[in-house]
Amino acid sequence: PLPRPSATHDRKDDTTMGRLKGKVAIITGANSGIGKATAERFALEGADLVLAARRLDKLKEVEAYAVAQGVRALSVATDVSQPEDCRRLVEAAVAAFGCIDILVNNAGIDDKNKSITNCDLELWEKVISTDQNSVYFMMKEVLPHMERAGQGSIVNISSIGATRSNAGISYTAAKMAVIGMTKNVAIQYAGTGIRCNAVCPGPTETPIFSPENAAAFDKEFARACARHFDGSVPRTQPEDQANAILFFASDESKAVNGETLVVDYGGTI
Ligand code: NDP
Repeated sequence: PLPRPSATHDRKDDTTMGRLKGKVAIITGANSGIGKATAERFALEGADLVLAARRLDKLKEVEAYAVAQGVRALSVATDVSQPEDCRRLVEAAVAAFGCIDILVNNAGIDDKNKSITNCDLELWEKVISTDQNSVYFMMKEVLPHMERAGQGSIVNISSIGATRSNAGISYTAAKMAVIGMTKNVAIQYAGTGIRCNAVCPGPTETPIFSPENAAAFDKEFARACARHFDGSVPRTQPEDQANAILFFASDESKAVNGETLVVDYGGTI
């Protein structure tokens, strides 16, 4: 097991309450945007972390932040669209910490908002494997460990692109599937101590909305269906999503199961 470091940072965020003390959390896509904000928040709440994404150098920066908060952290270079990588990630987590209490399936890519007539098979397969298959792979690997422990909380990151079906075709399909898988797993484990919920972020200030990425969006389709692109409702911050993820991850939501929580300032009501 990894040794426990001592905290070297002042904890300035007085909203933290040690809500995840003693828990071990895997977070995918932990080196950017919502995943990074979640990892940092979880570290402040006392969780030991297993951080996964493809770019190891950027993961290491988040790992250093977590260790400076006094928690243990492990970075594992992972392509979540590959089942073998997901297996290796979970094995590494169990080898380092002995258990997995929390899984946050956050890694994902956008589909440039491509409508069905503009989405080729290559893009479809890339988005489905990254945003949908990954959630299946990760839950399948983690659940046997949660079953053995008799407890666990899975938080899947879907999107308002699912609840409103107004993202591109592949992203909407994948994120809707995430909600379906969330509810399906929740039914299987209802009442056992294992829970599975989903957070649906609204537009959030992360690299997904970088000028270069946004420039490639299918604007005609976006105009046709998305109120949230007209700018009348603000984008959220990654920390807003991290707070919602923390709620599902912590025992404060112990009676909540199979739910989706839309975090978007009400922009899609
Ligand atoms: P970012 O682009 O900031 O972060 C995406 C993360 O996913 C990165 O850490 C990236 O790391 C990782 N990732 C991408 N592909 C893979 C892969 N194949 N294997 C492992 N890791 C991967 O995006 P956001 O923070 O904005 O998005 C996080 C989640 O929130 C996504 O699921 C997204 O769909 C969802 N979401 C975001 C919204 C927004 O407005 N930002 C709105 C609704 C939902 P690396 O490249 O190193 O692998």
